[in-house]
Amino acid sequence: MEKVTEYFGSMVFDDRIMKATLSDKVYRSLKRTIDRGTPLDISVANAVAAAMKDWAIEKGATHYTHWFQPMTGVTAEKHDSFISPAPDGRVIMEFSGKELVKGEPDASSFPSGGLRATFEARGYTAWDPTSYAFIKDGTLYIPTAFCSYTGEALDKKVPLLRSMEAINKQALRILKLFGNDKVKSVKTSVGPEQEYFLVDREMWKKRKDLIMTGRTLFGAMPPKGQEMDDHYFGSIKPRVAEYMADLDKELWKLGILAKTKHNEVAPAQHELAPIYDTTNIAADHNQLTMEVMQKVALRHGLVCLLHEKPFAGVNGSGKHNNWSISTDQGENLLSPGETPAENAQFLLFLAAVIKAVDDYQDLLRLSVATAGNDHRLGANEAPPAVISIFLGDELTAVLDAIEADKPYGGTAKEKMKLGVDVLPQFSKDSTDRNRTSPFAFTGNKFEFRMLGSSNSISCANIHLNAAVAEVLRQFADKLESAKNFNKALHDLIKKTIKDHKRIIFNGNGYDDAWIKEAEKRGLMNLRTTADAMPHICDKKNIEMLTSHGIFTEAEIYSRRDIMLENYVKQVNIEASTMIDMARKEIIPAVARFAADTASAVSVKKSVSGAACRYETKLVTELSGCVDDMDAATTELEAAVAGLREFTEIVPASEFVRDTMLPAMDKLRSAADKAETMTAEDYYPFPAYDKLLFGV
Ligand code: ADP
Ligand code: MG
Repeated sequence: MEKVTEYFGSMVFDDRIMKATLSDKVYRSLKRTIDRGTPLDISVANAVAAAMKDWAIEKGATHYTHWFQPMTGVTAEKHDSFISPAPDGRVIMEFSGKELVKGEPDASSFPSGGLRATFEARGYTAWDPTSYAFIKDGTLYIPTAFCSYTGEALDKKVPLLRSMEAINKQALRILKLFGNDKVKSVKTSVGPEQEYFLVDREMWKKRKDLIMTGRTLFGAMPPKGQEMDDHYFGSIKPRVAEYMADLDKELWKLGILAKTKHNEVAPAQHELAPIYDTTNIAADHNQLTMEVMQKVALRHGLVCLLHEKPFAGVNGSGKHNNWSISTDQGENLLSPGETPAENAQFLLFLAAVIKAVDDYQDLLRLSVATAGNDHRLGANEAPPAVISIFLGDELTAVLDAIEADKPYGGTAKEKMKLGVDVLPQFSKDSTDRNRTSPFAFTGNKFEFRMLGSSNSISCANIHLNAAVAEVLRQFADKLESAKNFNKALHDLIKKTIKDHKRIIFNGNGYDDAWIKEAEKRGLMNLRTTADAMPHICDKKNIEMLTSHGIFTEAEIYSRRDIMLENYVKQVNIEASTMIDMARKEIIPAVARFAADTASAVSVKKSVSGAACRYETKLVTELSGCVDDMDAATTELEAAVAGLREFTEIVPASEFVRDTMLPAMDKLRSAADKAETMTAEDYYPFPAYDKLLFGV
């Protein structure tokens, strides 16, 4: 058997391959572009393209594609072959620097939210040399950013790169104040833990809802759900283990550092975590991971569900965005240090994150808002829609001490004076690992847990980076002009704690009492996408995002429209699928069962004269169910028709929230009740117990 060390990254045009295939001069020039963003010379691009092509052809590739992340939520690719006609009627394989650097996909059918009028349908993709090219299915993939011809971002990578640059710029200002002159760049890193469900493909094929929407729109709870908690970290079934091994291998070939795999809380639910990487690379890798997960599942007769809530009543799937900021010198700025100065610097960055999360709760919430994730936030075992920060008791006590000018704990005798006292050591892996907090400090990083399993991590990180960059800017402005740095620093941290401690909550986030408490503290509770998304256009958010060059104002409005359109479209597809299943499958099945039972009653009565009390009662109840389902379907049909009347996206999204989703719930509960009374062999598709325990 092949060794992992031998095939790891074998499909990636990585640093090792670059070094081996490029001339020294070209390699160094490309490295400068990768590390420092210096513009790439066309002669260098030509040389890189030629080397890439030769390497890819050697590996059996025939095509190349500019791979990008439009606002649809999935990645997009258009494949071109390397072939070029030769004068003698044969072909040669060609790939120029121009083709590497820039592509021009027909952009007219990607969502632009009005940014790109259809008569100017052109957009272009630009190579992101910081993310390695790779080969998948015989095609050389070139990670790219996607812009309109006038330079507006049409994707998620462009603003992500801009947000990383914003945080780099502001963090460098802060580090300079601490005398950290060696640092040349600051980058954010992310390790996204990815949850998913596996179901049997044959069963999946029988469910229109899974096929069309990725989640079950109907289904009563099975006798056994996740009450026993016996699945979490449980032993992995052979078929799943084979899938996971195959998946690891495919990911490793693509240079993705898949590290941890285990069962999750819900039956049929699992998790995969990679080792963390620079944010834009982590984003590309996570996107690729989701694609490979789904592809490999098919080989094993399985379907991988990435929907946030494939099954009502059991845990949904999320993605934990483990996030930290570090310097090119290898220092993690969210790691408490050993010297007083390091600690003061750590506390300043900590304070910046606390303030950023409090000031921009709305942006963080809307960065993860989708129709799918709405089912999860606030539901069983998921973070609530309210944003709060978990710091743990020890760190909270340190902040309390600073705020009150009191000594901390038993260690320091004097009151805490930053820059003088050593911050007491606190355990990196505190035992009270709070799993219910949407934004938890976990020793040297923050874990943003509100992301949905199918979300691109780009959106969350764009807004997180932007918010923190903004607060660092405010801090730097203040501190740079201070006469007494240590005093100004102390006052700034103290004031920040005082003003923003309402966002800190170390208790149980799933407790209803917390929602009430959060309301008292004035925290936002944006329960749905329709509630959250419009806030991106709030004055304070537009000002902040534009001032750091993350988005233009036009881009912000277009993002709101695109995200709300996605929401409305998604729910509309679900509603239409429900109507179809109810009318063509469920209602006829239940009616047939009722009719068969009724004719059995009449035969039985005429033959034996028996009262048939059970059957008569059943037929009456089933008929009632059929009537209820019919009425609820009619109501939902009216909602679908009603939605067509809207021409503006914001009111349409409110209609979806207020009318369509409740109508869907009503139909679902009528059908789920009917399901529990209908004989299994009459039911048109596999029920929850089969789906959840059938692999
Ligand atoms: P868990 O949360 O499941 O206990 P860990 O906390 O060890 O697991 O790690 C979860 C994820 O966090 C992994 O993807 C890991 O690579 C990532 N991670 C660890 N350290 C950092 C860091 N400094 N910055 C960003 N991500 C990190
Ligand atoms: Mg975790």
